[in-house]
Amino acid sequence: MAQIVICAICIMFLRKGSEQMNYDKKLVYLDYGASTPMSKEVFKEIEPYFYTLYGNPSSVSSFSEQSKMAIFNARERIAKAINCKRNEIYFTSGGTESDNWAIKGAVLKNRDKGNHIITTAIEHPAVLNTCKYLEELGFKITYVPVDKYGIVNLEYIRNAITENTILVSIMFANNEIGSIQPIREIGKLCREQGVIFHTDAVQAAGHIPIDVEEMNIDMLSMSAHKFYGPKGIGILYIRRGIKIDAFIHGGHQERGRRAGTENTPGIVGIGKAIELCNLNMSKESERTKKLRSKLAEHILEIPGTELNGPDYDKRLPGNLNICFNGIEAEILLMSLDLKGICASAGSACSAGSIRPSHVLSAIGLSPEKCKSSIRFSIGEETSEEDIDYTISTLKEIISSIRTT
Ligand code: PLP
Repeated sequence: MAQIVICAICIMFLRKGSEQMNYDKKLVYLDYGASTPMSKEVFKEIEPYFYTLYGNPSSVSSFSEQSKMAIFNARERIAKAINCKRNEIYFTSGGTESDNWAIKGAVLKNRDKGNHIITTAIEHPAVLNTCKYLEELGFKITYVPVDKYGIVNLEYIRNAITENTILVSIMFANNEIGSIQPIREIGKLCREQGVIFHTDAVQAAGHIPIDVEEMNIDMLSMSAHKFYGPKGIGILYIRRGIKIDAFIHGGHQERGRRAGTENTPGIVGIGKAIELCNLNMSKESERTKKLRSKLAEHILEIPGTELNGPDYDKRLPGNLNICFNGIEAEILLMSLDLKGICASAGSACSAGSIRPSHVLSAIGLSPEKCKSSIRFSIGEETSEEDIDYTISTLKEIISSIRTT
């Protein structure tokens, strides 16, 4: 009951805050894990495909040929970024669709070989709820555990594989705690065992290197809005030879596997965005890590704070997840929001109840610690000044919460 009341108060405050939102006021955006601003260069490149180059890529005119060429070039850029072939790239509406297609498509097509899927307890709901749905259809799911740092143990996967296993789906990097899985080794194991390996790389793509060949990946999901591209466009990489059902039936687009007129501006945008990220990756990653270290170091000076998740070398460069013991994350987020700082909680406030994050629970945090944890995610536009402002604001807020 108390939780319902707290949640309702939070919503009231946040609504009031947003009504009063003055967009000229300082905004420190530390929620890049939720979404990123589109880069200006990406925006510039996609703009003509809304106004002047709007031809349907499936039409035969030379005008439409320009859209077809733009899609061809985008495929080329993406193929280069993850080291695959152009015709192994399929455009989707985002990460959720890519995950749904990879998992449902592969297991339904390979049902004659078995009915067993292996995944982890810390996947995004796009994977977990797809698995839940497949369970209702008679598939068996094994959720391999992760350690206290959010990393899966290869031996658990090896032991979970049976002759009925047809798919292993394990995320590249976690969205809440940033833990990076041993993808190359998991891929190698799956390849040796003849099991299809899918990875949800929605948080990883554009931020850490991905090579589907070297990492033995059969299917990989990406989403442009997590790496400075537009919303509503994603990719599913499907290795040539992988048996998978079509996802959307209709016209011949995407080699008949995902029908519907192509989202040309989105496709151009995701191609440009991944190219830019890969070009700037090592420099940006170093810059982001430095800012994250500064933020972490100062926050962890505050009594009662703890780092959630892995050490920095096994974590996405921009991710920081902190437990503020004894303080409700919702209250802290609301107070930060009123000061123009945007971060997010690992718990979802839905239907009047605060549910502890399944990721934080899976790494062994108590429900109380889960509800006191916040994710800060740093990105391209985060400055040192933003970090300094966040540190001083957080210290002020926490001391005022603790003295009242
Ligand atoms: N997978 C992960 C790991 C994510 O973090 C997200 C989004 O936050 C998704 C999938 C869903 O992606 P989209 O928002 O493009 O549907």
